[in-house]
Amino acid sequence: MPNYRAHALTGMSTAFVANLGMQYACLPVLPDGSRDLSKLDFVEAFLAIGVGLVGASLPDLLEPASSPNHRKFFHSSLLAGGTTGGVVKYCMAGKTENLNVKDIISDPGSRLLLAGQAAYYSHILLDARTPKGVPLLGLKLC
Ligand SMILES: [Zn+2]
Repeated sequence: MPNYRAHALTGMSTAFVANLGMQYACLPVLPDGSRDLSKLDFVEAFLAIGVGLVGASLPDLLEPASSPNHRKFFHSSLLAGGTTGGVVKYCMAGKTENLNVKDIISDPGSRLLLAGQAAYYSHILLDARTPKGVPLLGLKLC
């Protein structure tokens, strides 16, 4: 079972790489086909590490690993997918129609939010690889 350290390191590195990747995708392409890497904002990328720590810690903060069956709603794959859709929808809010991915990740706030979501997702994926797995929904319906 992944422990706090594994979740934290995976989440922080996921958010860092995701943020840098999104920043890179937004850099203008120079006439020679390259991108001006000096425009990468490493302050934003390091902020993403903090956001990643929070995102990767959330599932176990909300449902502490106090028993082998602690994974419920906040560890569910449907919540992870649903919140990803919600985060993307939030990042699209107020932007023009005919959006492309660059429009969605064009501002630092959206990139940090998506990096945090990627970290949250990394937690669910790590837990999904264990014998207990993660629930589809995690709610008792009756
Ligand atoms: Zn967990």
